[in-house]
Amino acid sequence: MAFDIAVIGTGAGGATVARELSKKGLKILILEKGKRHRVGTSVNYIKNIPMDLKLNVIPDEKYDFLRFPAELMYIEDVGGTTPVSLANACYACSACYSNSATTQFKIHDIDLFKELIEASTDLKVNPFPADLMGPATRKIVECGESLGFFMEPMPKFIDFSKCDGCGQCIQGCMAGAKWDATHFVNEALLNGATLLSDFFVTKILHENGEVTGIEGIFEDKVKNFQVKKVILAAGALNTPQILKNSGINEGVGEGLFCDLFITVGGYLKGVSFNKEIPMGVKSEFGPYFLSPHFSNQLRPLLESKGLNANPEDVIGIMVKIADEANGRLNEDKSIYKPLTVRDLELLGEGYEKSVKILVEMGVNPSSIVSTPIRGAHPGGTAAMGKVVDNNLKAEIKGLYIADASVIPQAPGRPPILTITAIAKRLAKKLSGDLK
Ligand SMILES: Cc1cc2nc3c(=O)[nH]c(=O)nc-3n(C[C@H](O)[C@H](O)[C@H](O)COP(=O)(O)OP(=O)(O)OC[C@H]3O[C@@H](n4cnc5c(N)ncnc54)[C@H](O)[C@@H]3O)c2cc1C
Repeated sequence: MAFDIAVIGTGAGGATVARELSKKGLKILILEKGKRHRVGTSVNYIKNIPMDLKLNVIPDEKYDFLRFPAELMYIEDVGGTTPVSLANACYACSACYSNSATTQFKIHDIDLFKELIEASTDLKVNPFPADLMGPATRKIVECGESLGFFMEPMPKFIDFSKCDGCGQCIQGCMAGAKWDATHFVNEALLNGATLLSDFFVTKILHENGEVTGIEGIFEDKVKNFQVKKVILAAGALNTPQILKNSGINEGVGEGLFCDLFITVGGYLKGVSFNKEIPMGVKSEFGPYFLSPHFSNQLRPLLESKGLNANPEDVIGIMVKIADEANGRLNEDKSIYKPLTVRDLELLGEGYEKSVKILVEMGVNPSSIVSTPIRGAHPGGTAAMGKVVDNNLKAEIKGLYIADASVIPQAPGRPPILTITAIAKRLAKKLSGDLK
C-alpha cells in the first residue's frame, strides 16, 4: 500500500498530526516504537532516565533542600507520555510568563492563538471545578491566599461529567474522563490511517536533499517504507537520535529543557491528600508556579526523619520552573543538564513559598522535606530557528518535526496543549489550509 505521509510517534504531537491529516483523506502510516498498554497500568511504564545535573555554582545552605539524583520521566508506548499526564492544560508558550497578552500565544515567531483555542476545544479543556476540590487542596488555597499568593483553578483536559474524582490520573484514566493521545490515534484509525506499533524507526532515508522513505526494525527485521513526506514526532529524547542516524546533526540534541520540578512536603496526620485530584489549582509566579501535588517520593524522606508516613499523612506542593534550555543529549544517550544560578534561585523561591504555605496549614517545619529534582517535559532538542524553520521543516525536503523538541525555550508550564497546537498548525500547512 502506498502512503502519502508517515508519522513517527503517537504522543501529543504525532497523534494530533495523524488525526488532522487523516481527516483530510490522506493515507497516513503511523509508526510507533511502543505497545498499547491497558488503561490503569500506565504508571508501570514510566521510564526514568538519570540527568547529570552538574551544578555550575556552589549553593549555600539556603539550598540544602536540593536532592539528587535527578531524573527525567517519559513513556514510550501508544499515546506517548500523555496517558500518565495529570491533564493540566496551560498555554505554555515560551513567553507566557512575560505577562504580555501579545506574546502569550507565540512560540518563536509563530502565533498559535487560533490553534490553541482549537486544541482547547478538541481536548475539552475546562477549569478544575470547585465541587471536586478536596479539603486538603482547599486548605492549600486558603493558606496560600492568606499569605498573598493568588490561587486559580488549573485548566484540565478532563470531562468532569465522567470524572469519579479518584485522584489516580497518573495511572491512565479508568473512568475515560481524561483526554490522552490514544483518543486521537483511534480517530485517525477510524479515518483510515494505518498503525504499526512495536515498529522502531531508526532513520529517515533521503537522496539529493529529499525524503525517500523510512527505515526501522519490526519483528527483529530491518524494514523500509517508501514515502515522500515524514512527520517526526518521537519526542524530545528520541527525535534527535533519529535525526542524527539520518545524517542531520547541526544543533540537534542541544538546548534541552525539562521544566525541572521538586515536590515540597510534610507530615499532616490524616490529611488524606493522596486521594484528591492532583494539581487542581496553581499559583503563578512568572517563570515558576506552585501546585498541590502528592508524591510517594516524600514518604521515605519523612520516614528518615522518624515519621510514620502513611500515604494518608503526606501533604505536598510542587514547584515547577522554566529551566534554562542548556542541556544536551550525549551520544551514549545520557543527559547532561547543568543547573544554573537562575534555576537554583527559582527553585529556592518556590521552596520558600511552599514551606510558608505548609507551615500555615499546620505542618511542623521540622518535618518538611523536598523530593529530588525531576523533569517531565523534555523539549528543545530540535528547536525552531535551529533545526526546523517556522513551518517546522527540517533541512531535508519533505521532513517535518512536530513534538516538544521544536519548542525553543522551557515553557515552565505543562506543554501538551501547546504541542497539540503546533501539530495542528503543521497539519493545516501540509493540507494547504494555511497559506
Ligand atoms: C508523570 C507525567 C505527568 C505529566 N503531566 C502533564 C500534564 O498534566 N500536562 C501536560 O501538558 N504535560 C504533562 N506531561 C508532559 C507531557 O506528557 C509531554 O510533554 C508530552 O507528552 C510530550 O509530547 P511529545 O509528542 O513531544 O512526545 P511523547 O508524548 O513522549 O511521544 C513520543 C512518541 O514517540 C514514540 N517513539 C520514540 N522513539 C521512537 C522510534 N524510534 N520509533 C517509533 N516511535 C518512537 C514514543 O514511543 C512515543 O509514543 C507529563 C509528563 C509526565 C511524565
